[in-house]
Amino acid sequence: MRTLSILGSTGSIGTQTLDIVRKSDGKLKVCAIAGGSNISLLEKQAREFLPKLVCVGDDSLKDDLQIALNDTDIKVVSGKEGLTDVAVFEDADTVVTAIVGMMGIIPTINAIKAGKDIALANKETLVTAGHIIMPLAKEHNISILPVDSEHSAIFQCIQGEKASQIHKLIITASGGPFRGFTKDELKDVTLEQALNHPNWSMGKKITIDSATMVNKGLEVIEARWLYDITVDNIEVTVHPQSIVHSMVEFNDGSIKAQLGVPDMRHPIQYALFYPDRYDFGLEYLDFSKISSLDFEKPDTDVFEGLKMAYDSSLKGGNMPVIFNAANEFAVAKFLAGRIKFVEIYETIRKAIDNIGFIENPDIDEVLATEQAVYELLGKNN
Ligand code: NAD
Ligand code: MG
Repeated sequence: MRTLSILGSTGSIGTQTLDIVRKSDGKLKVCAIAGGSNISLLEKQAREFLPKLVCVGDDSLKDDLQIALNDTDIKVVSGKEGLTDVAVFEDADTVVTAIVGMMGIIPTINAIKAGKDIALANKETLVTAGHIIMPLAKEHNISILPVDSEHSAIFQCIQGEKASQIHKLIITASGGPFRGFTKDELKDVTLEQALNHPNWSMGKKITIDSATMVNKGLEVIEARWLYDITVDNIEVTVHPQSIVHSMVEFNDGSIKAQLGVPDMRHPIQYALFYPDRYDFGLEYLDFSKISSLDFEKPDTDVFEGLKMAYDSSLKGGNMPVIFNAANEFAVAKFLAGRIKFVEIYETIRKAIDNIGFIENPDIDEVLATEQAVYELLGKNN
């Protein structure tokens, strides 16, 4: 039995993780959960899964949640400290990191130091602090189990293989709602169009990242850390059907791929039951219903965020932090209706061009870089 703390239990990955727990016949147990501000859902989840600890991100909602759960023994905490309390909660052996953005760094580091395995969905943490997280995980002998579908696919493909014989990782991308658009056509796309992902239903931030293809750039960097391979050896191919979740090419030219219906509960269950597989009654792939599987080169002239991600990883140091923090800032602005879609790229570019380079940033310098990006970009807004 795995015992879980879930950071971001009310979100897309969080609720799908809980669905897996619900179907797991007691093989998974929830010990602690954390969500942002949706206290009615947190209360509902607490009553159904009976964790010992619940954290609400918004401090001002703590008392309301505590009152709502007064008839139970569940402890309520809040804010950043509460999030870390959930991440290190002693009864849990595994932490599911399903929060968005760099706020995942500190709780993830603390969870690793507390000896927890990490089922990692929160890609921004690895993108910006992979050089700190991966050695720390090694030092504490903990597993980082990928939840992202592409990384789960790669993880499944390399089982039983030697790392030294991997030639290339091939990460698939749906291409998002604007696949095939020209630069001109991208200029006037709306928030509503950007939120309408063709294959996946996800949280808003990652949905916009998918539309800009920044998400694929973040995933290339995430794979770089998970599989200790430089981004030169990671290729992105656009595969609009999202059936092939990613592939690994070996030295002899042989390629292994992992396929399945696009349903995040598949990679979530693989992470939580690894090395076993568990039949939850999830949908099986029906080849008679697939007319074709297409692959095409990504257009990095139009979707320039993907190229910027490669460049920032190759430059290294705090460059991926600058890239990621500027993107988080810009996506929040776009979601608030304050900038246009293509301004997301312009915002990232501005940060890359203006923030000072640090060769091997420690955790304080990673967070200081994030702060510097927000200060730079906040000035003219
Ligand atoms: P989401 O926006 O749906 O959920 C985010 C969760 O974080 C919510 O539960 C929210 O309440 C919580 N949260 C926000 N502020 C908080 C705070 N201060 N304290 C505690 N919790 C807080 O996001 P998502 O789509 O589930 O994505 C989560 C992560 O997983 C992201 O890094 C994303 O890139 C990655 N991911 C998501 C998918 C997907 O299908 N949704 C797929 C692959 C990877
Ligand atoms: Mg993904």
